[in-house]
Amino acid sequence: MSMKDNNYLCPKCKGYLNVGGHILFATKTRRNHKGLLMLDPTVGEYKYKHHDKFNLEEGEMVEFACPICKADLTSSNRKDHAMMWMVGIEDNVEYDLYFSKIAGNQSTYLVAQDNIESFGDDALDFDDIYYE
Ligand SMILES: [Zn+2]
Repeated sequence: MSMKDNNYLCPKCKGYLNVGGHILFATKTRRNHKGLLMLDPTVGEYKYKHHDKFNLEEGEMVEFACPICKADLTSSNRKDHAMMWMVGIEDNVEYDLYFSKIAGNQSTYLVAQDNIESFGDDALDFDDIYYE
């Protein structure tokens, strides 16, 4: 399954967040800098594109909002993660995709019903962080 072909949706307005091979977010840093981020849709990839004047500092908390409806994408059960929906292009399965809001923190969790997969060097056991 090529992640690049999957669809990524805002869980609030159900608008598509992916365009041109990237996932687009409106973001704001703790220093109150605002900018658009384009994330690589491959789960486990942590490269992103940004404007030259909008830089993230390693380790800083970034607020992710939907660029369409401006909803805060912070996970309701874990404040340091954001959540969006992923729909597999091949299996049409809906996943909840959680990712760290901390710049440079590599942890992503893909959840579908009772199936949980973790990605990234900083990922913890999903059961431990969500159901403790
Ligand atoms: Zn939205």
